[in-house]
Amino acid sequence: MASTFTTTGPANGEMLKEFPAAADHEIADAIAASHAAFQTWRTTPVEKRTEPIRRAADLMEERIDELSRLLTLEMGKLTAEARAEVELCAKILRYYADEGPGHLADERRTPDSGGTGVVKKEPKGPLIGVMPWNFPYYQVVRLAAPNLIAGNTILLKHAPNCPQSAVAFAALMSDAGLPDDCYINLFADTDQIQTIIADERVAGASLTGSEAAGSAVAAGAGENLTKVILELGGSDPFIVLDSDDLDETVSTAVAGRMANAGQSCIASKRLIVVEDHYEEFVEKFTTAMAGFTPGDPADPDTTLAPLSSEQAAADLMEQVHDAVEQGATVQIGGGRVDRPGAYVQPTVLTGVIPSMRAYSEELFGPVAVIYRVADEEEAIHLANDSSFGLGGSVMSADPARARRVADRIDSAMVWINAATWTEPDLPFGGTKRSGIGRELGAEGILEFVNKKLIREP
Ligand code: NAP
Repeated sequence: MASTFTTTGPANGEMLKEFPAAADHEIADAIAASHAAFQTWRTTPVEKRTEPIRRAADLMEERIDELSRLLTLEMGKLTAEARAEVELCAKILRYYADEGPGHLADERRTPDSGGTGVVKKEPKGPLIGVMPWNFPYYQVVRLAAPNLIAGNTILLKHAPNCPQSAVAFAALMSDAGLPDDCYINLFADTDQIQTIIADERVAGASLTGSEAAGSAVAAGAGENLTKVILELGGSDPFIVLDSDDLDETVSTAVAGRMANAGQSCIASKRLIVVEDHYEEFVEKFTTAMAGFTPGDPADPDTTLAPLSSEQAAADLMEQVHDAVEQGATVQIGGGRVDRPGAYVQPTVLTGVIPSMRAYSEELFGPVAVIYRVADEEEAIHLANDSSFGLGGSVMSADPARARRVADRIDSAMVWINAATWTEPDLPFGGTKRSGIGRELGAEGILEFVNKKLIREP
């Protein structure tokens, strides 16, 4: 099925630019080119491979105005957040340029039977990346930076609504001196993705996106015995056990829920508050959610951006209506903002119960659900009553208590006294239905390498 790669301004619904979808022969050429480039890139010394990656970090910073403008244009990201994303990408690129070779160094082992075992980390080949629109550069850099340092090459299929960001990033990699065809942007559709995965020359697939997309890519990868990494959705708990500064706790929760207009996999979507603090937390959180100002995302005074598309706003409203019809209480919001564009009011729901979609589904926008729990045990139980297992937060003035609870949360990342976020040198990923494998840190760079044993006498 052919996709349309189109820039449509989320703030006004205007169609701004369209790109032609790739023809099947272009996909075939791209696979061949990526595979040919891999033959040279894999034998290029790792120190040499760091050079274009380091230069790409510099270029991200030099081009921050234009790169961030495209994010705001294509998916409606606030300018300040768009700039922060570009800066984060520069850090990730630089981290792998600096530390990547160390993570890839040979490891010497001394087996019980004598002699030496050397574990090498050899590149595997071209990888296909399939990416979402919510962090159009960051998602790509998470895959590209470590894997290019590792000696793999990248075929990249971006989300259909951020083609200009996709083209700008590919141009940046080329301008940074990356050899031709080591990174290829493709305006491919889902059938073509399966063709790419099925090609024996393609060594792995990495998808960031929804469960449905992850399942489709993993099915193709399974059929072809291709390694796959999946970074999927989340419904992260944000547990408030106690606080000696509830204003600070609330402001962390609001930032955790509202970053990227709430369209973040690691957003603090389920706020679970122990009852001593519940009433005050709901009141303060609701007041803070009332303070957002909708407007043009390029205007520095705007604090509430539109969602990425009209469809995204409509889908979120359906989830809210389902909860309200079944008796949830709307503390604030609950509707669309009265202006053109894909704006949704900051919304706070309480009284959400398991039969409501809002209990079990990911809410991808500015809608928070607050739950009241009796104690720590109930908080843990509720936090774990989810098919997702991406991130989570535990808030407490008592570090030992926070750690005790964090240890019992079934997720891949738990942040103590902070909203879940991402750092270049720490592993990022999900467990349960939130994903398979890790990106970033030492773990990320080792996902698509052949850990090859050389046994010496
Ligand atoms: P999406 O609809 O799943 O799309 C993600 C990418 O997958 C797009 O490029 C999409 O392309 C492609 N895709 C969709 N169906 C496919 C299929 N059957 N086969 C191959 N490719 C397919 O997700 P989204 O709406 O863009 O992104 C939001 C989701 O991503 C949320 O659930 C969010 O939590 C998750 N996410 C996770 C992380 C993480 O690190 N864990 C980070 C960011 C976002 P087409 O639209 O052209 O089909």
